[in-house]
Amino acid sequence: MASADSLTVPAAPALTDLPPAPPATGLTAPVRKLLAAHAQDADESGEPDRPALAVLRESGLLGLALPHEYGGTDADAEGLNTAVEQVAQVNASAAIMLFQHYAVSRRILEHGSPALRRRLLPRLARGEWLAASAWSETGAGANKKQLSTTARRTPDGGWVLNGAKSFTTSAGLADIYLVLAQTEEPAPDAAPDTGYGAAGQTFFLIPADTPGLVPDTSLRLTGMRGSATGFVSVHDCHVHDTARLGEVGTAASIIAGVRDSGATLGAVSVGLAQAALDLAHRHAERRGLLAQQAVRHRLVDIAGEVEAARAIVERAGRRTAPDPGIATLHSKLVASSAAERVVNAVERMLGSAGYVASNEINRYGRDARAVALMGPTNDLCKELVSLTWNR
Ligand SMILES: Cc1cc2nc3c(=O)[nH]c(=O)nc-3n(C[C@H](O)[C@H](O)[C@H](O)COP(=O)(O)OP(=O)(O)OC[C@H]3O[C@@H](n4cnc5c(N)ncnc54)[C@H](O)[C@@H]3O)c2cc1C
Repeated sequence: MASADSLTVPAAPALTDLPPAPPATGLTAPVRKLLAAHAQDADESGEPDRPALAVLRESGLLGLALPHEYGGTDADAEGLNTAVEQVAQVNASAAIMLFQHYAVSRRILEHGSPALRRRLLPRLARGEWLAASAWSETGAGANKKQLSTTARRTPDGGWVLNGAKSFTTSAGLADIYLVLAQTEEPAPDAAPDTGYGAAGQTFFLIPADTPGLVPDTSLRLTGMRGSATGFVSVHDCHVHDTARLGEVGTAASIIAGVRDSGATLGAVSVGLAQAALDLAHRHAERRGLLAQQAVRHRLVDIAGEVEAARAIVERAGRRTAPDPGIATLHSKLVASSAAERVVNAVERMLGSAGYVASNEINRYGRDARAVALMGPTNDLCKELVSLTWNR
């Protein structure tokens, strides 16, 4: 779907000609059903959940993060978190694809040149293109400091990229990748350490069909198995300078700004926790367990955990905390830990039914654990919150 030329050819339609993306403020029942339809199959097979992606593309959900002028529906961070939570309730793998798409769309909106915004954002808003983030590497995991992926200037003013990314969600499904590369020798004294990324790193937006870009979905994950989280390598991948997002060497400051957005992976965790709670309720009802006070009280405790996690995610999305960036980090930490506790509690409530491999609770548990490992990892969230105390 993407074209290697699309970043250099000024072929974007006039913005006024674009059909507006359908409103997508809440998930309709049919969309929920369609997103849920293959989640369990994708978990069992480990194959990318393409049907769910088709639903995301057609539902208008991919346009939520972008303003009307680009054909989007202009949701704020609270709206994005709600959409991600609702998708995660039925399909957490689809929710992380959606989250990454929103994250890249917003970074282009914030840091893209007017030409880049005009060329890319309408396609991302319409769901014609899916965006992915290719930042992590085998040797540059949590804090992305020692990247092996390089981007070197070419005599024609462009760039050539070489390297290998790992754990890229939507690998092989995305139409465009936001690739993090080392463009200059790191100069530690050039910029303050933001805890995530390093000096001399630059972002590039590379369409999927650019020669030299090769996705590989052979990575077998324990959870989020429908999310096509895999490898993306770039071999002598030539791009025009217009593919660069932001100034050369400023990726770390773009990354530092991400946490201020209020959009949080904690929303995925809230969706998973809610799904586990709903499963526990259905099980207790079906088995006549609601007559037991002890069971009812356990459900109340679990529901309280879910509500508390949702509240902190909502607060991050509203961006009303004294430091919205810290609130976003807290929301990811608190909600992802809560989801793991909730799933454990529900597993015990389900008894032996939950010990059957095909029971959904096992998928929720494996998916919930992934959120804690996703960037910034929960350990790194703590480090980012506390970094300034050590200066
Ligand atoms: C399901 C899933 C989807 C993902 N999707 C994407 C994606 O779309 N794009 C992408 O770029 N990446 C993605 N990732 C990668 C993710 O963003 C993490 O950054 C990456 O997994 C961390 O790498 P690591 O576990 O190899 O960390 P390592 O750096 O090897 O760290 C190992 C452990 O040490 C801790 N640690 C490391 N450094 C610090 C520090 N400075 N302070 C405190 N603790 C630290 C870590 O938290 C971790 O527990 C995904 C990961 C998963 C599991």
